[in-house]
Amino acid sequence: MGFKDFLGNETTVRHLRESIAQSRLPHALILTGPRGSGKYTLALMLAQAVNCLNSTESDGLPDFCGTCRNCTRIAEDMQLDARVEEAVATREEMREVDKKDTRILIQTHPDVLVIPPDPPQLLIKVGQVRTVIREIYRVPADAKRAIYIFTSAAFMKEAANSLLKILEEPPAHASIFLLAENTGELLPTIRSRAGIARLGALPLEQLEQHIAGRRSDLSPAKRSLVARLAQGAVGAALGFDLERYLAYRQDALVLLRHATRESDHSVLFRMTETYRAGAEGQEKTQGMLRAMISLLEDLLLIQSGQAVLIRNVDLQAELNTMAASISFDWIENTARSIQQVQSGMRRNLLRSLSLDAFAAEIAVR
Ligand SMILES: [Zn+2]
Repeated sequence: MGFKDFLGNETTVRHLRESIAQSRLPHALILTGPRGSGKYTLALMLAQAVNCLNSTESDGLPDFCGTCRNCTRIAEDMQLDARVEEAVATREEMREVDKKDTRILIQTHPDVLVIPPDPPQLLIKVGQVRTVIREIYRVPADAKRAIYIFTSAAFMKEAANSLLKILEEPPAHASIFLLAENTGELLPTIRSRAGIARLGALPLEQLEQHIAGRRSDLSPAKRSLVARLAQGAVGAALGFDLERYLAYRQDALVLLRHATRESDHSVLFRMTETYRAGAEGQEKTQGMLRAMISLLEDLLLIQSGQAVLIRNVDLQAELNTMAASISFDWIENTARSIQQVQSGMRRNLLRSLSLDAFAAEIAVR
């Protein structure tokens, strides 16, 4: 474990490690770059390097051991999607009155707080920033430096103004990392008070090469598919369970084919029959819906003339045909139906989940 596991963007990473070495890590730092460029991974690695209890070094610069009590607790944040799903599920179970005042925050280390966009609107909300204001002036207990990571630059207006108040009087013992695909989303007054570090996307070929060295179980064509499905994200690519994804995607395709053209109902019923109630059925449904979302995103890319960016490259011909037969509105509505199913599952409303009903709902009429 260490910065050697962070692929690409060597210059940016070196500058940041130099600033840690000189105790000049900014109070506020914008990490900007496209999706999959490693903003979040790097933010956590910096938090580990600042707080590693074994004062690890490599190439004469601060690094982290990955095994001490600070490193391991911060590393639990790496699986961000899983942590957010847990927090959302906990909130769904609360009484209505408490739900309203509960904001999604991730804290696996007492002095490292991750602030993701709060669902369903997926914006950073003022309640989340208020928690940061309450916490950030507290001297860290276990960390040398407290770290606050905002994983999105999509702030509600009031939330952005509250953040600005912190940046006007930042405490000496904390750093705020702001992750942004586009710095234009942040208020100019926030940008002017923060340092900035830019990350470029990892080229697909470089990611494929990296996968080749570590996933010899995959053929070159499959490695290429995994690199795209992981959207350039190294960690996601190395852990990608392709067989499982392809099984889910096959079922998602049955639903899409059924919805978009005349098809044999028995194929649909044979597929939906395999989705049973209970935890196993829920996990399977979630996997299938996620695969369906990636197909819908590809259909949108094809419709907007950006077919070169699609992820499910092995299905290009079929997706082209499908994209020509459906409207933008249908894709939007189908995406919304998927969100409703996902939200129903989180609230345990779908004990008798009916994929047949879902299939009828999204069918093009
Ligand atoms: Zn450590």
